[in-house]
Amino acid sequence: MVVSLGIPTLPGRVHGATDGRPATPGLVDRFGRTATDLRVSLTDRCNLRCTYCMPADGLPWLDREQALSADEIVRLVEIGVRDLGVRQVRFTGGEPLLRADLVDIIARCAALEPRPELSLTTNAIGLASRAESLAAAGLDRINVSLDSLHAETFMKVTRRPFLERVLEGVDAAAAAGLGPIKINAVLLPGVNDHEAPALLRWALEQGHELRYIEQMPLDADHTWSRSSMVTAADVRALLAPHFGLAPVEAPRDGAPAERFTATATDGSGLTGTVGIIASVTEPFCVDCRRTRLTAEGSVRSCLFSHTETDLRESLRSGADDAAIAELWRGAMWQKPAGHGLDDPSFVQPARSMSAIGG
Ligand code: SAM
Ligand code: SF4
Repeated sequence: MVVSLGIPTLPGRVHGATDGRPATPGLVDRFGRTATDLRVSLTDRCNLRCTYCMPADGLPWLDREQALSADEIVRLVEIGVRDLGVRQVRFTGGEPLLRADLVDIIARCAALEPRPELSLTTNAIGLASRAESLAAAGLDRINVSLDSLHAETFMKVTRRPFLERVLEGVDAAAAAGLGPIKINAVLLPGVNDHEAPALLRWALEQGHELRYIEQMPLDADHTWSRSSMVTAADVRALLAPHFGLAPVEAPRDGAPAERFTATATDGSGLTGTVGIIASVTEPFCVDCRRTRLTAEGSVRSCLFSHTETDLRESLRSGADDAAIAELWRGAMWQKPAGHGLDDPSFVQPARSMSAIGG
């Protein structure tokens, strides 16, 4: 009898390789996956306090010297793209726009060979004045988090009254050519789930791609509950009276979102693409291609890891690039098969989303 522990089964386990890694330059793991998509957290700080991410009072922030400098970040990204097969780099946080040296970091990463694809995940506060310089520095695309179009609900989710600034930021990003813009929305039951169709209508009208993200147990307050979260199936049901959804045929190719062509049922002809990221109820760990760096320079092989590998100490004690690359490979080799969220023994990681880098 097979008893499912809720951990996805993975094909392509490297036969007999559990005791040692194959001699390959890439970031491979014991289950045959190769990480080519790097998420770099530029800071643990944020100017919002989204309830599903941060506590109301914030967190004990890293000291300036604990966080990686621009030079250290660019050096790690260079090792990633030159030696480890990283092809996409997404800057995140915390709130990456809080870094005064963001444009410099992007420009230096855009000059690397081979040139990685560069994107940013941001809450867009302050983006209005920086979108053009970010695009000029070489930023290719942007994802903006926006959970409500109503000031009161926005305030309830983020605990800050900044909706207008976010909307201005989105418009500036579009004007600067940072599209296609993806809008990330986390739906919370009884708070903003009623806005699911309105958010999609707005995104389609603006020409942005909305992605609904299932809430994961990565909130600092540990209030997440599997039984009360809004699932991908709930999202489809909420949209059904307003939009027809036809699955996009193109292969997902490691992307977390399942994409649909949404067409309004009101005869207006409004149509476009929408994504649903069902990390909890329809996990995609089997095809995960991510590796993560925290703001203090540790590798996390999975959002839900309980272990990390510190690269900052090596960076600062004079290790050469080859030694750092080898440490990084070793960390990724230990990547777990899956997050096991549906496993009764699942334990939420100590770090919350803002401190990992979402
Ligand atoms: N501050 C930036 C922002 O909000 O876009 C970047 C960092 S934030 C941690 C990155 C993404 O993680 C956001 O889209 C946010 O909605 C998502 N996120 C944060 N906590 C989450 C949670 N518990 N479950 C699912 N997504 C979460
Ligand atoms: Fe800040 Fe992003 Fe977390 Fe919201 S989701 S608190 S904007 S880091």
